[in-house]
Amino acid sequence: MPAKLLEGKPIAEKIKETIRQDIQALSKTPVLASILVGDNAAALAYVKSQQKTAEALGIEYRLEKLESGISKEGLIEFIQKLNQDKSVNGIIIQMPLPSQIDYKKISQFISPEKDIEGVNPANMGKIVFGQAKILPCTAAAVMELLKETGLDLYGKEVVVVGHSEIVGKPLALLLLDKFATISVCHIGTSKAERLKAHVKRAEVLIVAVGKAGLIKGDWIKKGAVVIDVGINRVADKIVGDVEFEAAQKRASWITPVPGGVGPLTVTMLMRNLVEAAKLQK
Ligand code: NDP
Repeated sequence: MPAKLLEGKPIAEKIKETIRQDIQALSKTPVLASILVGDNAAALAYVKSQQKTAEALGIEYRLEKLESGISKEGLIEFIQKLNQDKSVNGIIIQMPLPSQIDYKKISQFISPEKDIEGVNPANMGKIVFGQAKILPCTAAAVMELLKETGLDLYGKEVVVVGHSEIVGKPLALLLLDKFATISVCHIGTSKAERLKAHVKRAEVLIVAVGKAGLIKGDWIKKGAVVIDVGINRVADKIVGDVEFEAAQKRASWITPVPGGVGPLTVTMLMRNLVEAAKLQK
């Protein structure tokens, strides 16, 4: 039997219901400040999708457009202004940024209380202690998808491919909290030609790399849960990092790309915003 599709949209709809209830319990409309530097097409597309979700939830989406030539110092100053603005509950910086600005060096200036992407070192650090209220959106989306499968992660072999700060690293910690046995693979694993061996024993496989076809369908362990975070454009189509058709024949659950992790990520951003507003109250 082919794997069941693990779709993000129905889960996102359920979470949105809770967000709506939380917003009603707040005494004011939560405000999300979105910093857009320049007019990159991909960044504009993210803005549009976030604006739509915010509007549907009753969140005020404040778009802050800045010149593409702004300096690092100028951007930091702007972020600090938003940190102090009591009407703003959460701040997000749209990616990609112009080449003169390094996101990693800038994002930490967003105060932990308003860091709705969960990238401030203080919020990351709380994950280690199992105390985080605001989680990196994509990692949180993956955890929600796993919850939907009903699988008990206790003692399971989980393989995460990709060790970025926003996906692989926080995920490894979140999964560890569930007592899964985690292996994190990366470029070193591939170079040592050990990726296939790790993937083959994964009862849960999470891939976040950005390379179409990196994970071959016949590597998937029978009955595995496969979460494909990757987004790649191939011949005008969006595909993930896993060979979908072949993997679907072996897995028990698999996320489609598009339609799996993506629709949940923006919902997690809004959940973080409401969480931040509650903490600020
Ligand atoms: P990064 O580029 O930050 O990280 C990619 C990771 O993959 C790195 O850890 C890198 O390792 C590793 N890697 C690269 N090549 C290989 C290889 N051949 N074998 C094993 N590991 C490898 O990307 P992100 O984490 O930001 O995003 C990953 C993917 O997920 C992208 O396609 C992105 O578009 C997508 N994405 C999707 C989201 C969604 O909502 N659906 C949200 C966020 C991201 P090293 O650093 O050692 O080279």
